This record gives sequence, structure tokens and C-alpha cells, in this order.
Amino acid sequence: MVLGAHISIAGGISNAPIYGKDTTCDTIQIFTKNQMQWKIPVLNADEVRIFKSRMKENNILPGTVHSSYLVNLASADSNILRRSICDLAQELERAEVLGINYVVFHPGAHKGEGEESGLKRISDSIKEIFSMSQSKKSSLILETTAGEGTTLGYKFEHLAEIVDSVNDQERIGVCIDTCHIFAAGYDIRDEISYERTISEFDRIIGLKFLKAVHLNDSKKELSSRMDRHEEIGCGKIGLKGFSFFVNDERFKSLPGILETPGGTEGYKKNLSVLRGLVIH
Ligand SMILES: [Zn+2]
Ligand SMILES: [Zn+2]
Repeated sequence: MVLGAHISIAGGISNAPIYGKDTTCDTIQIFTKNQMQWKIPVLNADEVRIFKSRMKENNILPGTVHSSYLVNLASADSNILRRSICDLAQELERAEVLGINYVVFHPGAHKGEGEESGLKRISDSIKEIFSMSQSKKSSLILETTAGEGTTLGYKFEHLAEIVDSVNDQERIGVCIDTCHIFAAGYDIRDEISYERTISEFDRIIGLKFLKAVHLNDSKKELSSRMDRHEEIGCGKIGLKGFSFFVNDERFKSLPGILETPGGTEGYKKNLSVLRGLVIH
């Protein structure tokens, strides 16, 4: 696994590779804009050029872009749905310009409309995004969720249904968030449960669709359906669960991104803990 973290773009996107290096990242995840706003600032050409050259200079592999938290492709509110579709269509283009292949997003919340209609709306929205976006290479990556409230994506079946409905399968993928799947009821704490969870993912979705992993421990218990990230090894998953991920040959080239609390120092500590789990 190529290890890294979600890195700030404070002061401009071109700073992210420097922050990533300071944090000892081999790869990074970034927002390309303020994640709490719909506003999409133009990507300045100089900024893009510097970002790319700094990524190379600092030996940081392109990882993932994380979409805005406002995006909800399952929304029954036509205004929010429209904004969400436009936002992701543009994020694909922005990621491509930055040389990043993956745009990770949370599938959406149905807000009482029902799971089936929510899933259908997500699938239809993704088709529209692909037909609308000028991007040719970047893919949309559905993130597994903890299943808080009415969010979809807490069952592998949800993600499989969406993936199967998309025509352009080269451009869709899935990101496992260890905290989220654990909170959703998929155990990974010992070898048997880990293998069971991964083979279930393979059977239901297909491992070829797994493009990234978010490495977060969980403050909450198995099946709590609550999304509360914890430092690696300090939560309810524990170190053993992470040792399976970082040593799994199948995931050798996947970005493994931390989204743990504790800022840069926390990331550095967690990265060193994860690296310490790797068996050479
Ligand atoms: Zn995540
Ligand atoms: Zn989370």
C-alpha cells in the first residue's frame, strides 16, 4: 500500500506536496477547493504547474481528490442535485488537470425517500456526470459509509448496484474506509473476519473496482453506524486490523490515506505506526 494522508491546501494547491513531504507522505489526498462551499474557484495554470512539479520533486504519487461534503447525488431537492452533478463533473476535470486519477465522494443520503430510489438517483446522476464532464481519464470513486442517518453506501450491495448500473466501468471505482466499514458492521479485527470482509467485497462488488483505502481507526464499536475517526491503533479496530491491509499483496499499489484527527503531528505518528506494521 502506498501510504499517505489527507493534506491541507491552505495557501494554495501547490503547497500540498510540500505539506505532504513534511508529513512523510508517499501519496496525498486533497480537496481542490473549500469543501463546505459550492463555489468553484478557477484552477490557476501556474498553480497547477507548480503543484505537479512539486509532486514529482518530492516523490509523492498522485492519490485522490476528495469531493465537497455538500455533494448529495441522492438528493430529491432538484437544486442540490443539480449543484452536486455540476460539482462532480468539474471535480473530474480539475483532478485530471492536476494529474490525479481519482475523485472520491460519499454516494449520498436519501433523506427519507427510501434506499431504492436514492440508489437509482445516484446511478442516474453518475451517468449524467460522465456525459457532461470534459474529463477523459479521471474516475469517480464511491466511498463506503458508516450508514449514519439515511446515508447510502454502508452495504457493499449498495455500491455494487451503482457500479453495475454505470456503462463506463473504467471510470467508476470504490474506496474502502476502514472506520466506515467497521461501523457499518464489517469486522476486520482478526484474520478470519478480515478475509471474510474482503472476499465479500470481491464477491459483491469485485476487487478490481477497489481503487483506494482510507485508513482510520474507529472511536465507535462494530455496527455502531457512527462515523468517528480515531488514531491508528487507538480505536476499536486496533493495530491488527491495519496490519492486514498494509501487508495485503492485492493492495500493494493502492493509495492508503489517513483521515485521522490530530493534524500533521498525528499523521506523522500514524504513518510511522502503519509503516511499522509492514512485514518485509
Ligand atoms: Zn474516508
Ligand atoms: Zn468518516
